[in-house]
Amino acid sequence: MKLTRLGKWVFASIIILIPVLLYLNSTENERLKKVPMPTGLDKNVAEKADLLVSEAARKGIRVVITDEFRSADAQDRLFAKGRTEPGDVVTHARGGESYHNYGLAIDFAIASRESGNLLWDMDYDGNGNSRSDWKEVVAIAKTLGFEWGGDWKQFKDYPHLQMTYGLTINDLQTGLRPSINGQPTQVSMRNKIYKFFRNIASI
Ligand SMILES: [Zn+2]
Repeated sequence: MKLTRLGKWVFASIIILIPVLLYLNSTENERLKKVPMPTGLDKNVAEKADLLVSEAARKGIRVVITDEFRSADAQDRLFAKGRTEPGDVVTHARGGESYHNYGLAIDFAIASRESGNLLWDMDYDGNGNSRSDWKEVVAIAKTLGFEWGGDWKQFKDYPHLQMTYGLTINDLQTGLRPSINGQPTQVSMRNKIYKFFRNIASI
């Protein structure tokens, strides 16, 4: 088949572009490898967690954040529970496999209006409006942008709320972050291009 003049140009451009993109991708890979693990809760997640507590309080529900950022080491210790350590299995995620490890997840409970004790009771209606307090809290959380662990198909995690910013655990393990030092990065073109080529490479 005879290539047109334009066809030749397109073909030559692609041949030149591929090594350039591979090079850019490998430098990006190196850069991402050096991205440190977060050491605390994502700024936006922290703000939204505060809002969740205050908005629930206006409805007469006392939300208590029972867990937020968790280091990879702490996650490994939690993973050992019910496996190599006594107790029940509480998580299916090892260190680096949970959104908690990237400061993107919180767990909550509700404090009983009567005793102040923490409750994990989905049917509790402390504010007496005939609606489950737990579900009211989840509804608020969703309007704030949280995903709820109770919506998961397999392992339902009812106290768990997270914000992924479209990043998978695999993305986070690679070094992609929604923000670094409070500066959003998840929308950066660099990350998008990187993800695009990584996805192609994984096909
Ligand atoms: Zn959780």
